[in-house]
Order: sequence, then C-alpha cells, then structure tokens
Amino acid sequence: MLYTRPDYFKKFKCTADKCEATCCAGWQIVIDDASLERYEKEQSAYGDVLRERIDWAEGVFKQDSCKRCAFLNPDNLCDMYKHLGEESLCMTCTNYPRHIEEFENIREITLAISCPEVAHIILNQKTPVTFLEEEAESEEEEFEDFDPFFFSYLEDARKILLKLLQNRAWSVFVRFALAKRFAEEMQEIIENTELFELVDVFEKYEDASYLANAARVLEKDCSAFYKNAGEAFSYSKAMFGRLYELEHLSDDWDDYLEQCWETLYQGGAEAYVTKHLGFAEWCTDNLAKAELELDIIMEQLLVYFIFTYLCGAVYDYNVLGKVDMSLTSVYNIYEMLIAKWTEQGQKLSMKDIERVVYRYSRELEHSDMNLERMENMG
Ligand code: SF4
Repeated sequence: MLYTRPDYFKKFKCTADKCEATCCAGWQIVIDDASLERYEKEQSAYGDVLRERIDWAEGVFKQDSCKRCAFLNPDNLCDMYKHLGEESLCMTCTNYPRHIEEFENIREITLAISCPEVAHIILNQKTPVTFLEEEAESEEEEFEDFDPFFFSYLEDARKILLKLLQNRAWSVFVRFALAKRFAEEMQEIIENTELFELVDVFEKYEDASYLANAARVLEKDCSAFYKNAGEAFSYSKAMFGRLYELEHLSDDWDDYLEQCWETLYQGGAEAYVTKHLGFAEWCTDNLAKAELELDIIMEQLLVYFIFTYLCGAVYDYNVLGKVDMSLTSVYNIYEMLIAKWTEQGQKLSMKDIERVVYRYSRELEHSDMNLERMENMG
C-alpha cells in the first residue's frame, strides 16, 4: 500500500479544550458499525452512561440543544476518552481531522482545513507544499470500477496542476486561469475522444514557452478584469450565489452569507470594485509587511483542494467539476475576506483569515451533497 501525506502532516496536534471551534459540536457524529458493537457490549461501570448517550436509531452520538456532543464535558474535553481511553473512540473521532481518500492500493491522507489548528498550519506555511510517499506491506486490493490507467493520467494531471499553481512568477489569478483552462481541455478529451490524447494536453502545459505566452496574455486579461465594473460585479455575484444552492450546516451560516452579500454587493458595481481594488492595495501594503502574502495563502488553499479532490475523478470522470469546485471555493473565500476587511474598517488579521477558511470548509466539505453540487454548478 502506498500512503501519501502533505509535508505539514506531522505538525498537527489537537488543541483539545483550547480549541476555539471544537469539532465535537455543530454537526452529528456518525458512529461506525464496529464501534457501535463495542459500545453495546461495554462492560465497565461507564457502560450504561455510554449507551444512554447514543442515538441507536440513527447510529450517532446524542447532542444537547446547542448541538454539543453528549460526551463533550463542560471543560470541552471528551468524557468517553477520559473514562475509557483513546481506543474507545469511534472511527470519525479517531480520524478527524485526518481525511482519507481511498484508491486501489493507495491511501491519500490529508488534514481537513475545517479544523482551526489545521487552517492555522496550512495558511501559515510559506514554502510550496510537497507530498511525501511511503510504502507499507499489505494485501493487494482490487477495486470494482477503478480504472488504473485513468488514475495514472489523473496523477500526472495533478502533478502538472500543482506545479502551475505553485509557480510564484505569476500572479495567483493567472495561475487560477491556467488551471481552469487545463481542466477544460482535459474534460473535452475525456468526454469526446480517447483518453490517451490527454498526453498531448499534458505536454502542452509542461512546455515552458507555451506557458510563458499564455501567462502573459492572461496577466493582461486579469488586470483588465476590474476595469469593467459591471462584468466583474455580475461574475462575482454569480460565484457567490452558488453558496445559496448548498445545504447549510451551521445555524448561523445563512445570516453570515446574507451579511457578506450586503457588504459586498448592496452598494452596486462601482462600490464593489472600489472595495476590491482597495483590499488588494491594502494587502500589498499591510499583509506583505506582516509576511502574510495573500497570493501564498490563496495558493496553499487551492493546492489543498486540488490535491484532496482531483484524483477522485477516477470514480466519476468529472475533472473540470473538481477544478471548478476548488476555484469557486477559493474565489468565494477571497470575497468573504473582502467583506470581513470592509466590516472591520479595513482591517484583517491572520486569525480572521483562518476563521473564514475553516467556517467555509465546514459548510462545504462536511457534506457530500454540497461537494457534489459544487462540482456540478459550472
Ligand atoms: S477542531 Fe481540530 S483542534 Fe479543535 S478539537 Fe477538533 S481536532 Fe482538535
């Protein structure tokens, strides 16, 4: 079995009771069958308390009226862990925030950015992320409906995409535009011709002179984007509007979206573009001084989404949808940062950025339905 992890993987340590947004509240924790069986048979003095705090019909831990897990004690520590130790935890609690994508004989393990500590680690990393591979002995697997040839194309595509996204010679918006174009060309081939023709697209996007020319043209397009206020305004509203099509998981998410919408778009196109340009200028002056370069933050975010989800296209052939979902997410996070900066009187801290990111991720990534919808809105 081949295991792949990002280079920052070992930096993670749960902050437990110090966590500002514990993962033990806000959503239902589904218990796997093996853990349910163990809980049913628990013989210790804690057994009855344990069984009483489980919703057996739904196979989840009960919650109080504030959606806190029944095991989360007033000190924000897990009561089950305290009484029965780490081994007693179910799969969800043991794994989180580790996120595992399963492919034939391959496990890709990342850290979910919905955890505040993970958001802190990823968004503060200055160097381009690398991914480390490790082989471990295990039985050979054979997955039904898994095409290893297509998967190896996807792995190649992901390497090219990550290299594009981590090319700091170009502005982040140029990199985003190149990523989108690359995915469109791939999808065209996947849907209309033979998969082996993907190699031609790969060669094109590995050709330094093609990329240099394309980037030059895109750089001009990107800087002209906000000159047409009406177009930029309509585009951004349409992108942000996609968030209203999703199921909303946190109780305050509707209000939060509404507040962002008002801050960003209620004043009309000219006011919107003024905010955008003001924010970009403020970032250059202030974030760079504080060594918080927004381009790097956006890069780390996009690398996170692309690495986690792109190869999942082996199961649905939707490469473009996965790239679109990643780009839309980073674009909308950027919009939310502008809203926050505006509401705070043109101020934004790294903590604010981390909060926006983990809240967004909780809404999108903790719902398979939301991920699927986002992949199919383009
Ligand atoms: S959200 Fe992350 S840091 Fe917070 S309690 Fe959960 S795993 Fe720990």
